[in-house]
Amino acid sequence: MSEYMEVIQIKDKRFKTFIPEADILKEVGRVANEINRDLSDANPLFVCVLNGAFMFTADLMKNVNIPCEISFVKLASYEGTSSTGKVKELVGLSEDITGRTVVIVEDIVDTGLTMKRLVETLRTKNPKDVRIATLLVKPDKLQVNLDLDYVAMKIPNDFIVGYGLDYDGLGRNFRDIYTVI
Ligand code: 5GP
Repeated sequence: MSEYMEVIQIKDKRFKTFIPEADILKEVGRVANEINRDLSDANPLFVCVLNGAFMFTADLMKNVNIPCEISFVKLASYEGTSSTGKVKELVGLSEDITGRTVVIVEDIVDTGLTMKRLVETLRTKNPKDVRIATLLVKPDKLQVNLDLDYVAMKIPNDFIVGYGLDYDGLGRNFRDIYTVI
């Protein structure tokens, strides 16, 4: 528990400090070291999933010191059929990933459905390997079987904002992570 606690308001919700920046950066640095250790000869392509992962990606990449490339994609939500509900489609990947080691960089894995679909989409493009690096995971909410190769922090089910994550578009700029109260 941090000694420093701040309460903020975004629209109708109140949040309090949950993970201070210093704690986040420590875990992000650890993940970067794991990647440096595992992928030193792989020339990986990091695929940052916008918008939420922008801050995590920046801090992660400052600590990754192996040869690598970085790309940025979006998952565009559109209404699918009534049976599929909301479908998220990958947009913006211009690189040929055939035979490459791809590391997805994501902000948070909740049910895991978004990530599972993204992994499946990337696998159709014949990469050598697809790995996942996520800032956060809510283990109690995971609904699918996913290999999360690199996880900075595990958190409970509560809704959080900050460090790239938003509530209704707001709060992405905060350095710390806040949880709803
Ligand atoms: P999943 O498909 O794993 O259920 O959902 C993943 C997406 O839901 C994340 O990429 C993120 O956009 C959103 N999400 C899940 N939990 C939270 C949360 O606590 N706070 C915010 N801001 N977004 C969340």
